[in-house]
Amino acid sequence: MASSAVDNVLPEALQFRPTSPLVDIGANLTHESFDRDFDDVIARAHAAHVNTMIVTGTDLAHAEQAIALSGQYPGLFATAGIHPHDASCWNAELANKMKALHAHPKVVAVGECGLDFNRNFSTPAEQEHAFEAQLALAVESGLPLFLHERDAGVRMREILAAWRGDISDAVVHCFTADRDTLHGYLDLDIHIGLTGWICDERRGHHLRPLVNDIPLERLMVETDCPYLLPRNLPAKLKGRRHEPALLPWIVKEIAQWRGISEAELGSATTQTAQRFFRLPTES
Ligand SMILES: [Zn+2]
Repeated sequence: MASSAVDNVLPEALQFRPTSPLVDIGANLTHESFDRDFDDVIARAHAAHVNTMIVTGTDLAHAEQAIALSGQYPGLFATAGIHPHDASCWNAELANKMKALHAHPKVVAVGECGLDFNRNFSTPAEQEHAFEAQLALAVESGLPLFLHERDAGVRMREILAAWRGDISDAVVHCFTADRDTLHGYLDLDIHIGLTGWICDERRGHHLRPLVNDIPLERLMVETDCPYLLPRNLPAKLKGRRHEPALLPWIVKEIAQWRGISEAELGSATTQTAQRFFRLPTES
């Protein structure tokens, strides 16, 4: 672990402030790696013009923490859901607790929820059960959905197609799949979240030509920090922890493959996020 003194500052080569404010729609800021220097992480995000962060709530405890953080720091909002890895713990009591969280004014989406057939930490049947129960909660609350999908695109599209008329909106966060899956989502008028995965030459470069297929009003950007440190950074970072202040480097990469300026991509994704999550306009 790097010392907190080292964490207090990003190397100068990594400090990049785009002209338009950005929204990080997927930040796992309840992760324990942020405990020791949380205020510095937020200050660095603001210095990088990342003014708004949606803190991902992946289970009951983390959703409650995300809500608590969003109450303490302006520009932070929360999601509340059960990740497919934890779908096996879904029950009626948990459903009621989630429903109560969805009524909190700082909760802007139901999720992270969905399907992950890559690792199957919960069985596919358990995942589908918890996912459909959360789709029902999204219908009830009217909130949009923050979705996770890995190696489950076909089933995810079938389920979403059945619910699409009833849910308000949905974003597939950290999209990593292929062109057919992408177009399946776009045909359902689903939003797409892109992370630094696109910067990974080992597994993410197939996303480069797909970037142009996503309408700007359907595209949002996210770090998924502390995971998925982008591999396009112009300097080494002590430790491997990703953080919101590095979002501009992801925007830069996506803009490059789309053939537009960082400013244009930044401002479009921010407008999309503000509309999608119904954020206060000053954020
Ligand atoms: Zn995810």
